Amino acid sequence: MNIEQIITELKEYKGPERKIMEVCGTHTASIFKSGVRSLLSSKIKLISGPGCPVCVTPAAYIDRCIEYAMTENHVLVTFGDMMKVPGTEGSLSQAKGNGAKVELMYSPMEVVDRAEKNPGTTYVIAGVGFETTVPAYALTLEEAVGRGVKNIRLLTALKTVMPALEWICENEAEIDGFLCPGHVSVIIGSAAYENLAEQYQKPFVVAGFEPEHILAGVYDIMRQLQVESGKEKGVHNLYKNAVRTEGNQKAMSVIDRYFEPGAAMWRGLGMIEASGLYLRPEFALYDGGSKGLDRDLELPEACRCGDVIVGRINPNECPMFGTGCNPMNPYGPCMVSSEGACGIWHRNIGML
Ligand code: SF4
Ligand code: SF4
Repeated sequence: MNIEQIITELKEYKGPERKIMEVCGTHTASIFKSGVRSLLSSKIKLISGPGCPVCVTPAAYIDRCIEYAMTENHVLVTFGDMMKVPGTEGSLSQAKGNGAKVELMYSPMEVVDRAEKNPGTTYVIAGVGFETTVPAYALTLEEAVGRGVKNIRLLTALKTVMPALEWICENEAEIDGFLCPGHVSVIIGSAAYENLAEQYQKPFVVAGFEPEHILAGVYDIMRQLQVESGKEKGVHNLYKNAVRTEGNQKAMSVIDRYFEPGAAMWRGLGMIEASGLYLRPEFALYDGGSKGLDRDLELPEACRCGDVIVGRINPNECPMFGTGCNPMNPYGPCMVSSEGACGIWHRNIGML
């Protein structure tokens, strides 16, 4: 079937309403840029999932980052998209304006050089990400250990996607199928979704980021949903040139060497068992005190971040969208990150 036929079928679909979650912020961005939504029947709803690690980072973590940045002889190093995420009393960007020592990094590895050159300063790396970025933090630790650089701490809010997907399957029965996160799948492999697909009898389809890949993924999910109940719905990998069934075993083993799973707080979702990654006890020297950072912001009544993250509503249904909360003055993290659903919707408002 060619792409024109796929578009025709998806546009003319008249069956029961279906909700498909695109777990990954990069898929959300591509869906908007390319206008994929306008090619679908109104009966097919694409829902943005918790695909942005910045978005699900709780306030206590930001507070701890700021605390370090205000501590003598300490520098907090972070990727730029963390700067505007609100903590209890404000963001890293505001703290920097008040004299906190915050530096940006393009990769955590470069922090090893900075730390080696400045032995009197402790560099605290804000480690936020899913499986895609975790290997970079593991390799940074490997480098620091190898070079004997001891003035580095990792404050981890690193998370793994599978426990969150399981949480969504358990709590959000209305989602009919999942467009799996492409980059994360490169690391964990398509086989990682098999248990969930079988247990919840839902399609999980791995697709690339080009609009035609997304359309093919949506079409595959819709076809699986049309098969009568009783027949298996499963994992299909349509992104075979990047995603292997078994994933990237080398990356998984470097993650496993340095990190172990533990409970983690997801902003908007709450505590999810074994969904966080923490340094193994043998690397405790490098840990910035990552466990127990589970306090989150009291959300104002109007804020619907939690509902956006699990796809109960679209961002523009939040009463704060574009009014109390916008990219210049983000309230919720979903508006902050370049991969956050609210930010993406706001930047592409004309395409809604
Ligand atoms: S936080 Fe982020 S990516 Fe993210 S939904 Fe909001 S929401 Fe999605
Ligand atoms: S518009 Fe702002 S407050 Fe509302 S859900 Fe999105 S990020 Fe949260």
